Amino acid sequence: GSIKTGTDVVVIGAGPGGYVAAQRAAQLGLDVTLVESEELGGTCLNHGCIPSKALISVGDLVHKVNNGSDRGIVVKGSVEVDFAKTQEWKQSKVIKRLTTGVASLMKAAQVEVVKGRARFTDPHSLEVELNDGGTAAYSFKHAIIATGSRAINPPFFPIDGENVVDARGALAFTAVPARFLVVGGGYIGVELGIAYAKLGSKVTIVEATGQLLPGTDPDLINVLMRRLRRLGVTVLLNAKASGGLQNGKVRVEDAEGKVQEIEADKVLVSVGRRPYHEGLQLEKAGVRVDEKGFIPVDEQMRTNVSHIYAIGDVCSPVMLAHKASAQGRVAAEAIAGLKSAADWQTVPAVIFTDPEIAYVGLTEAQAREKGYDPVVSRYNFAAVGRALTMGESDGFVKLVGDRKSGLLLGAQMIGPEVSELIGEVTLALEMGALMEDVALTPHYHPTLSEGILEAALSWVHDIEKAG
Ligand code: FAD
Repeated sequence: GSIKTGTDVVVIGAGPGGYVAAQRAAQLGLDVTLVESEELGGTCLNHGCIPSKALISVGDLVHKVNNGSDRGIVVKGSVEVDFAKTQEWKQSKVIKRLTTGVASLMKAAQVEVVKGRARFTDPHSLEVELNDGGTAAYSFKHAIIATGSRAINPPFFPIDGENVVDARGALAFTAVPARFLVVGGGYIGVELGIAYAKLGSKVTIVEATGQLLPGTDPDLINVLMRRLRRLGVTVLLNAKASGGLQNGKVRVEDAEGKVQEIEADKVLVSVGRRPYHEGLQLEKAGVRVDEKGFIPVDEQMRTNVSHIYAIGDVCSPVMLAHKASAQGRVAAEAIAGLKSAADWQTVPAVIFTDPEIAYVGLTEAQAREKGYDPVVSRYNFAAVGRALTMGESDGFVKLVGDRKSGLLLGAQMIGPEVSELIGEVTLALEMGALMEDVALTPHYHPTLSEGILEAALSWVHDIEKAG
C-alpha cells in the first residue's frame, strides 16, 4: 500500500477518547490522522452509554404511563412497546445522528479519518488493514492509543453471542426477552436489568458479592433495592451463576452451596471490562502494559515510550466516557507542548438506575481517611416539592463537608434526575467551594436542585448550632 509520511499525530480508535483527542490536536494546528475499524463514536455512542440510555428512557416512559393510576392516569387496555420500532428509532434517530455529528466535527477540524485496523510496525510507524481492502502505512511523530475496552468473557459463563450476550448484544435484542437473567450486578447489568424489566421482561440479577453496584455507598443501595423489589426484579446476592444457559435454565449457587435453576430466554454476562489492544502489536512500538493489560501512563497520558500516549478505557480501570474525553484533551495539548495535566479529583459518577444514582468527591469514610473531620448533611426528596409533583419522592441528597474549614468535600445522591443535579456539586467542588457558598446560592423554586440547597443550609445551620 501507500505510505503517508510525517503525520504529526495518529490517533487509534474513534471513541469519546480518540475523536476528542483528534479534534483538539487539530485545533492546536497539528496534522492529525484518526484510524477506526468500526463506527465513529466507539463503544460509547454505538454500544454503550448512548444506546443504553435510549432504551432506559423508553422503558421509563412506558412504565410511568402504565403505573400512573394513583395520579389519575387511566390506561384502557395497556400501553405496549413495539420494540422493533424502538430499536429502529435508537439506531437511526439517536446513534446515527450522533455518529454523523462526529464525522462532521472531524471534517470541520480537517482530521483525516481512515477506516481500518491499525497495528504498530515500529515506534514511529503503523500499518492499517483498510476496511475497503488493502493496507496503508503511516509514519508519525506522535501516536495516541484510544482502543478502549471489551466485555470480559468469563470461562465460568461463556458468551455465545446468541442467547448469552455481552452488553453490546443486549442492547441489540430484536425482541424484549420474556425472561432475562443478568450475571453481574455492576452498573451495566443493573441499568439494563431495570430497562428490560420496565419493557416487560421478568428479570433476575445474580451478583457474586453481598451488594449490587459493589463499591457504592450502601445508603444509596438501600433505596435502589426497595425500588427493584417494586419493579419485580429478583436480586440474588452472594450467588454465583455458572455453566451457561442449558435447556433454557441457568444454574445459580448461593453462599451456602444451595443450587437453584432459573429459567431464562436471554442472559447478559456483565462481569467487568478489560482493556483492548488485540492485534495492535504494542510490542513493536515498545509500549509496556501492566499485568492486567492496562497501558500505564503519566499525568500527561504518556506511555513508557515518550512520543506515544494512551487514553480512555485502555489505560485506566475507571472506565468512563467523559474521563476518556478529558484525557484525550490532555494528550493532545501535551503533544502541542502545553502544560495540561490530568486531575481526576472531581470526575462524577452516574448510574442510570431507577432512581438514578450520582456521586462525586469524597464519601464520609473517605474524607475521614484523608484526615478531614467530615460532617454529613442529608435531605430527602420526600421533602422537595418538585419531586412530589413528579411522583418521584424516593431518595436523598447527602453532602459531605469539613467541620473546620467548611469545605465541600463530596456528594452522594439517589433520586429523580440526580444525573443532572450532580453537575452543580461537581462545579462547586472543582472551584473549591465552601458549604456556605452552596447554601448562599439562589436555587429556583420548585426544582429538584432545592434538595442540594436544603442539604447545604442544614449543614451550615448545624455547624452554627454546634458552635
Ligand atoms: P471506546 O469507546 O471503546 O472506543 C475505542 C474504539 O477503538 C472502538 O471504536 C474500536 O473499534 C476502536 N479500535 C480498537 N482497536 C482498534 C485498532 N487496532 N484499529 C482501529 N480502531 C480500533 N460511560 C459513561 O461515562 N457513562 C455511561 O453512561 C456509560 N454507559 C455505558 C454502558 C455500556 C453498556 C457500556 C458497555 C459502557 C458504558 N460506558 C459509559 C463506558 C464508556 O462507553 C467507555 O468508558 C468509553 O466508550 C471509553 O472510550 P474510549 O475512547 O476509551 O474507547
